[in-house]
Amino acid sequence: MRALLIERHGGAEVLAAVERPLPEPGPGEVRVRVTHVGLNHLDVWVRKGVPGHHFPLPMVPGSDIVGVREDTGEAVAVVPFVSCGVCDACVSGRHDLCRAYRIRGEGMDGGCQEAVVVPEASLLPLGALDPAEAASMPLALLTAWHMLVTRAKVQVGDTVLVQAGASGVGSFAIQIARLFGARVVATASTDEKRALCRALGAEEAWSYEEAPRALWGWSGKRGVDIVVEHVGAATWEASVRAAKWGGTVVTCGATSGHQVSLDLRGLFFKQLSLLGSTMGSMGEMRAAWAAVQRGQLRPVLDRVLPMSALGEAHALLENRAVSGKVVVAQDLRR
Ligand SMILES: [Zn+2]
Repeated sequence: MRALLIERHGGAEVLAAVERPLPEPGPGEVRVRVTHVGLNHLDVWVRKGVPGHHFPLPMVPGSDIVGVREDTGEAVAVVPFVSCGVCDACVSGRHDLCRAYRIRGEGMDGGCQEAVVVPEASLLPLGALDPAEAASMPLALLTAWHMLVTRAKVQVGDTVLVQAGASGVGSFAIQIARLFGARVVATASTDEKRALCRALGAEEAWSYEEAPRALWGWSGKRGVDIVVEHVGAATWEASVRAAKWGGTVVTCGATSGHQVSLDLRGLFFKQLSLLGSTMGSMGEMRAAWAAVQRGQLRPVLDRVLPMSALGEAHALLENRAVSGKVVVAQDLRR
């Protein structure tokens, strides 16, 4: 079968099509013929490399995988992580705390190939979902669910600020906060992205420049209960300031830089909670997926490109030229 491989870190030229043996399922595993793979900003980090972080290259990229089970012919999505299954964290259902936790396409091979072999327990039913739309969801959906539901414990009546609300994580964060009865506002860089935030349920959507003043007015000079932060250095100080007394800032990313400063007086006087969050557990994945299948959360798909044009798809993400997700469709065997 054919696979796309990141052989070394670099530009789009490091993506190479190679021939590999078709993988054989072992006990408890099934082979899935890949039809679609959803991209995340993570794909760009893996290709370019991150100083001080080791990726096991050469590696097949692509975390969000949709395809057809070979044994039953059923359309399925694949949970975007694996964990050891036997440690204290795993048997307590906290797979996200497993020290052997790996994301597909980041710590192990991903989906940009003709077929993958995965544990049967990692399959999510597609039901009536469109396969390209389904491929746009799992990683961002799980990340946003874990941040708001498990870490920040969003409740009815909470006020929530979602930074970068038109991103993959942001667009689900807006919807999940609304689903749990919160009032939501968001930031985004363009008119088009702000319109998307409002369409997803944000009461207001502001530019990063106008947000601090606008939020102060909107919240009655109090700040918000929960800030969903994943932009990093560029928004960190504004995010901490936006949290009200006793409020929570939950972060899962640092796209614009990972070194920030913190005034400890603000932290203790305001009694803030600063929470880190990464991915989530199998139980959370299934709960979030069930909400999608009930029509309570919807995907935001910008476009579908052929898998052979993966470099072009990466460029769209790097240039922030998309509003919503990019998915690649299988065309490696022609
Ligand atoms: Zn484990």
